[in-house]
Amino acid sequence: MPAKKKKKLNKKELAAYKKKVLAERERIIRELSRIEESINSSSEIQEASKKAYSNHLADLGTDYMEKEKNFYYASVEGQYLRSLDEALKRIERGDYGKCEICDELISFKRLDVVPSARMCIKCKSESEKNQRGR
Ligand SMILES: [Zn+2]
Repeated sequence: MPAKKKKKLNKKELAAYKKKVLAERERIIRELSRIEESINSSSEIQEASKKAYSNHLADLGTDYMEKEKNFYYASVEGQYLRSLDEALKRIERGDYGKCEICDELISFKRLDVVPSARMCIKCKSESEKNQRGR
């Protein structure tokens, strides 16, 4: 039986990227709370919604919260935050740094720039080419 070559980051490398992902995550969370603050303080519509919220807790309240939540998750930062959370899960599982398409290790150079990367640069550009072609 041929020995399957294991392509994995070692513990030390995983720990280093975990630190990096966590730091990046904190930065994004700070960024998001800043965005949230600016929405809450600047918008008159939001003020009106807040008043409505206290008057009609049941229906308007959920609507308002839903909108805010949607904005939060639809934002680029929100998506990035989720991809960082996924990266953390992969670190915990130990399969972080592996391309999910071709199973090759993603280069450290790429991971340093995009710690949440799930594909190697080759597969990434392939998938972007395919998306454009559609
Ligand atoms: Zn790949």
